[in-house]
Amino acid sequence: MSFKNVRAIPSPEAIRSLIPINEELAKIKKENDRQIADVITGKDKRFIVIVGPCSADDEEAVLEYMNKLKEVRGQVNDKLLIVPRVYTGKPRTTGDGYKGMMHQPDPTKEPNMLEGILAIRKMFIRVIEETGMPISDEMLYPSNLPFVEDLLSYIAIGARSVENQQHRLTASGIDCAVGMKNPTSGDLTVMFNSIKAAQHSHNFLYNGHEVQTTGNPLAHAIMRGSVNKHGNNIPNYHYEDLILAYSKFIEGNFKNPTVIVDANHSNSGKKYFEQPRIVKEILHSRSYNDYIREMVKGVMIESYLVEGNQTGSEPHVYGKSITDPCLGFEDTKELLLDIADRV
Ligand code: PEP
Ligand code: MN
Repeated sequence: MSFKNVRAIPSPEAIRSLIPINEELAKIKKENDRQIADVITGKDKRFIVIVGPCSADDEEAVLEYMNKLKEVRGQVNDKLLIVPRVYTGKPRTTGDGYKGMMHQPDPTKEPNMLEGILAIRKMFIRVIEETGMPISDEMLYPSNLPFVEDLLSYIAIGARSVENQQHRLTASGIDCAVGMKNPTSGDLTVMFNSIKAAQHSHNFLYNGHEVQTTGNPLAHAIMRGSVNKHGNNIPNYHYEDLILAYSKFIEGNFKNPTVIVDANHSNSGKKYFEQPRIVKEILHSRSYNDYIREMVKGVMIESYLVEGNQTGSEPHVYGKSITDPCLGFEDTKELLLDIADRV
């Protein structure tokens, strides 16, 4: 086979014991899982806001961002459940480009996955320790999950992965909330099939064992817009799109019908500065219809310290996204306070 072993990677158990989470932080993480679960099951009426950079590319910038976010959280905690994006694996459409901190702990240097796994565990633990907030990440590679699953409270399955069997089956055994994005094509059937699969029990090969999962009743939808055959972005955050999603949840007899609307990606056409307007439209749609209000339990916003994203020719810029363009922190703060006023 044309694989060259670059370096051996210790088992997930060995990695976890190299950078362990202490009991106190594990308790905080569990409590965060419970709070997110309570919103999804309808017990907690707060509105989830999954917010943070497209890619967590620099530990210090990420921690500075998270600490600022923590201050805002203090002002809105009764209305909003803030879930920071600490995304460490980036899907690349053609496979080229920066693949996230897990592959490249230093974006200016060669890939090193062992260093990457250790770096992201250290960063995740710092976020929990310094802010007490739940961590969300995308599960881009199901086989990488055992290295970090003890630290994550929310897991997204990306638009390029949602049709994949291994992602769906793995999601069925995850204990925390899993959001399934609609695929880049926009076909909602793919997303709903994925939710159905994740809500059921399965037997499959995972982490060196034949395993049986319980099914994950917290699996739900993330609407992120789509791209048509001409390469145009087609949003799916409008009222009619939400009604359609609602009817699919009812037809399919799903557990805990839940939509999170992603305000960036193909919903904004990556015009990150449109996110506040898009979020306000979503809140307006919620105020029109109680079913939509019940189902749309949150939004996703891409935001970092500095607005925009860096261009390919720029050196690594502190606090500016290396992948998708983000809202700057001050605009994000204003938006979060505004959301808290409106929900
Ligand atoms: C993301 O959330 O940054 C992302 C890559 O999303 P999507 O899978 O929707 O493109
Ligand atoms: Mn992104």
